[in-house]
This record gives sequence, structure tokens and C-alpha cells, in this order.
Amino acid sequence: MLVRLHTTQPVSLSHVAVTLEVNISKGIRLHLLGNTHSSLRESKQRVYTVLKRNKWHWPGQRTTLNFLPLDFQKIGGHYDLPMALGILCASQQLPVHRLGQYIILGQLGLDGSISPSQDMYNALVLAKQTNKKGVVTNFSRATYHHLRRLFPEMELCQVSTLYEATAFFANGTLPSIIPPLAVNSEDKTLIKGSCFSDVSGQQPLKKALEIAAAGGHHLMMIGPPGVGKTMLASRLGSILPPINPFQTHPIRAMFSSNEEHECIAALSGIRRVELIDRNLTKRELFGSMSNEHIKAWLMEEDDHRKSEYPTGQLSKKVGVFYRSSGGVLFLDEFSSYPIKVVDQLLQQMDHHLVQVILAMNPCPCGNFNHPQKACRCSASALNNYQKKLTAACKDRLDMTIYTQYELWTDELQEASSEIKSRVKKAWKSQMERQGRQNAQLSTAALEGVCRMKKSSWRYFHQECAGQKLSIRAQQSLLALSRTLADLKGDKSVNNSHIKSALGLRLNDRSSMSPLEEARETNSEQRIKVNLGGGIELNA
Ligand SMILES: [Zn+2]
Repeated sequence: MLVRLHTTQPVSLSHVAVTLEVNISKGIRLHLLGNTHSSLRESKQRVYTVLKRNKWHWPGQRTTLNFLPLDFQKIGGHYDLPMALGILCASQQLPVHRLGQYIILGQLGLDGSISPSQDMYNALVLAKQTNKKGVVTNFSRATYHHLRRLFPEMELCQVSTLYEATAFFANGTLPSIIPPLAVNSEDKTLIKGSCFSDVSGQQPLKKALEIAAAGGHHLMMIGPPGVGKTMLASRLGSILPPINPFQTHPIRAMFSSNEEHECIAALSGIRRVELIDRNLTKRELFGSMSNEHIKAWLMEEDDHRKSEYPTGQLSKKVGVFYRSSGGVLFLDEFSSYPIKVVDQLLQQMDHHLVQVILAMNPCPCGNFNHPQKACRCSASALNNYQKKLTAACKDRLDMTIYTQYELWTDELQEASSEIKSRVKKAWKSQMERQGRQNAQLSTAALEGVCRMKKSSWRYFHQECAGQKLSIRAQQSLLALSRTLADLKGDKSVNNSHIKSALGLRLNDRSSMSPLEEARETNSEQRIKVNLGGGIELNA
């Protein structure tokens, strides 16, 4: 008898449909066909042992298992369950009428238990695309209820042993549903113990981070060590809005095979903050998948998503950079990153799939502008240091904030929850208006949503001409102005928003940046100068 059932092959960012044909005919031995990896020979042994142990009859005839399509290799232990069920159905020990309606996968233990399957989001997406009723497997407990919520129309057939799976295919009964874990969609444990109120003072920096979070803007923080740059960046997760709806699908697809807390964060739409290790190579950072391919995949809107996935990408890796999409990438001590990595990073910053937050010291020794200590850097050292902040880099930074030491105050600090409520409000108005954050809009789209009066446009163009802003910088300025208006709840962008936005792009406004100022001063005499880079926030 010939039976057909459906299973799947996980690839880097999705699942590909695999059909398994099982035929029992005259002859001997079990034959595996269809471009299978050697790991499937182990599956054969496991399935034999499990069926024998569970008192099923092993067909003593020629059993042929054929995996389709043939154009990619079938690899992994998850073919155990479909193979076992296929053999039982083909040897008429189980009825076949339900077999073709589900995607089946699961790795068997010798006692007949099924290991919890990873990457079930993508399996459910595939089941939906191929008009199946659902997926039969052992879902990991942490993600089961999140997936239930995301796919209400699909059947999530939870089976933890081969016995339960055979019972389901024999008479449609499933074991009772596992109770939900006590987690809500905004899992508090993910951001526990990190609040902006832990950092005293630094109001301009906190405000800049709030603006960056609301509009998805890139930010550079320059300041001496110990002023709270890293502390605040690590607490950024507590004020970030949810992931933009158009990005949720690729992010869920990417993280559904990850560790549980990462997977839950992705399934619930929580943005993550990732600190990049400067020892990572360019390949580790950007992966082995072609940048063009992954970018197109990440940018594609849900409705236009192609159901077919190029199987040539089967074993390609996604780099740390792309794994942060929808979230924040934090590069501490930016000046110490290799130039190759920085160059590639700058290219990717244009697309605003990942928000980039950079931090660096004002000079190599870090004492520049310290109230007590004197900076001992030579002019040439400062010169080399500043070279890292190239024009291309400055151009892509929506905001640059210079911080200084602040005396400790016992003033009550604003909690992250209060900042987050403002950020979320501004984010919501952007989603309702344009479906993405301001930083992700094209110039043409920005012109439409800014709703500026003629006089404001005149002011904008005057300032841009005066500061000699590039087209890219003008676009960033417009997006930043729109975010400032959104945070205030204003319908249209006016002169004051543009002025504040210009202030936040400090490196454009002042003809001489504080670093250059420092270099000039240090070259003449080694004295301490005061950074005059005050910013206007109009907040
Ligand atoms: Zn120094």
C-alpha cells in the first residue's frame, strides 16, 4: 500500500515543504530514497527500535520511503515521527484518512517519547501556506500558547509520545492541553531590574534616547567613562516600543528556533538590545547569506511575501546584525571597532532595519573635559581618534549627544514606565499614519507626513543650505523633526521642531565640533577646555 504524508525541512529563515511517500510491496529491507543525509539512516534504526518496543508489527516486506522534492538534501532527526507514522499507515495498522491533512514532525527517543520541536512558528506558517489543518508535534511549552494566539485558525496538535500521535491518527483524540505558563505578552522578566531611574541626572541623554526610541533614529553618545552611557543603553529595552508590524513576521521567523526567552520576545513583538562584541568578524556580524537577499526578505511586506524559499540558502547563516533587526544594536567604545566592520555597518544603517546606538569617549585617555583630571592626549592622538568618526558616519547619525560629568542629585528620577508611555504614544501615531517609524520613511513619504507650512519649508531649506547638509542628512533631519512633533502630539511639523532637530544633529550645526575644538586647543597648550556643546531640546 502507498501512503503520502507531509513534513518539513527547516532552512535558515523558514521551512520548506517535504512530502514523504511510503510504499510496502513484495521483497525485503527498508529503502530510503530522495536525496537524504546520512542522519536519516539513524532515523531508520530509531523508528525500527521504537515500533518494536511498542509492540507494533514491523512489516517484513520491502518498505520504500521516498522524500520529495529531490532538489535539496533532507537532514535532521525530526523525520522520525513521519517515518514511523507512514510505516504504520502503509502496513494498515493505522487509518490513513487524517494523515495527509497535517504537517508532522518530531524526533523520537527509544522509549517512544517525542522531543520538543524548535522553530514551530515557521512550521505553522508553512502549514498555513499549504492549506493544512495544523501541525502534529511536541511543541515546546514556553512557545505553545504564544503560537496559539498567533495562529488561532490552525490546529496545534500537541503530542509528546508516539502512542499519543497514533491515538490522534486513529480516533482524533489528543491529550489534555498543557496549562499556560504565567507570562503575559510583555514579559516583565525580560526587562526586570533595569530602569532609567537607576541613572542619576543626564537629562539631555535620557531625552535623546527617548526620541531615538520613539522614531527609530540612530544615536551617538560621546562622553567620558562613567557618565552612564552604557548603563542607559543597557536599560533602553525598558522604554522601547513594540516591533513595527511590518517587521514582525521576519523577526518571528528568525527567532523561532532560538533560545526560549529570545523566541518568546520575538513572538510577543518585544524589541531587543544587543551589545556587539568588537571581536566578532565581519562574517559573524553579517552572516553568510547574501546581503541583498536577506535585506529583501526583511523588507518585504507580509502580503507580498513569496511562499517559495530558495533552497540554495539551506545552510546559510544569518549574522548578528540582521538578527538584531527590529531591535537595537549597541556598539560601546565605537572607536575600537575594526574599520572593515564599521564600513559595512554604515552601509546597512541607511535601511533602518536595525537601530544603531554608538558610544565613545571624548578622547583616547577619556579625561577630556573631566572636572578634576587633565587630558594628556597629544594633538596627533586626538587627530587619529577623531578620524574614526568619518563624514560618512556623521552623515548617518541622526543625533549626536555630548555628555559630561554631573554632580549626583537626590532629585526623583523619572521611571522607564513613564518614558515608555510617551514613546508608545508617539509610536502608535506613526503606525496609524504610515505603518512604520519616521526614520524608516523615504524622503517623498516624509514630505507627505510632515504637513509643513510654506514658511516652515522655507526655514528648513534655508537651514539645510546654510549647514551644507547632504540629501541623506536632510532626510534624517526631516524624520527627526517629525518624531519631535509626534512626541508633543502635534499634527504638523513647525519651525521649533526643525530647530530642535538641528540642535540634536550637533555635528552639523557647529562648524567646529567639540572634538576638533579639543584638538586645536591641545595642540597649542595642554589645558582643560569646556565643551560648549549645549543642546536645545524644547522638551
Ligand atoms: Zn585625552
